Amino acid sequence: MRLIFLGPPGAGKGTQAKLLTERYGIPQLSTGDMLRAAVAQATEVGKRAKAVMDAGQLVSDEIVNEIVSDRIDAPDCAKGFILDGYPRTVPQAKALDRMLEEKGLKLDAVIELKVDEAALVRRMENRVAETIAAGGSVRSDDNPEAFKRRLTEYREKTAPLSEYYAGTGQLKAVDGMADVDTVTAEIEKILA
Ligand code: AMP
Repeated sequence: MRLIFLGPPGAGKGTQAKLLTERYGIPQLSTGDMLRAAVAQATEVGKRAKAVMDAGQLVSDEIVNEIVSDRIDAPDCAKGFILDGYPRTVPQAKALDRMLEEKGLKLDAVIELKVDEAALVRRMENRVAETIAAGGSVRSDDNPEAFKRRLTEYREKTAPLSEYYAGTGQLKAVDGMADVDTVTAEIEKILA
């Protein structure tokens, strides 16, 4: 099973991807998580990505294409994977198409979580408040300014992917405003 999750930041892609990893026994490949790990380890990629990520902007296609291509080759991806946060631009989607073709792999579905943007800002504020209340630390790009910038980046660069995948016949839309279980059930219906 090879899946892509599309949807703005805070739409619940990560939550749904995690639930599916347990069900299908395949890993969730979050480029955001991979980049944050690179920043934490202060690798060359991490050093290049940090300022861009903190500003809520997109890291270069070249960097993310490479980390995804390497990650897909790992043995735990043999049965499939769930891409969360990648592709994020049409050039990334085209690079992914080429990458999969070279590796002899095919996508099963692209699932778009449709959400209301005003509600997303509230969700982000709640997520930050809950994390702080639980004694955790929040992401350096989880503040209203960077979040709005991430939404703008989404609208300008990632939203066109819906059209791209509608064109390939792979796009399936799900109402991401429903509660977590309902969204999961809808996704499972699509994949059944
Ligand atoms: P996320 O955890 O998916 O919200 O990603 C956090 C940040 O990592 C984004 O705001 C971008 O700066 C960067 N990032 C993650 N995935 C990508 C991608 N596919 N292309 C470019 N930048 C990305």
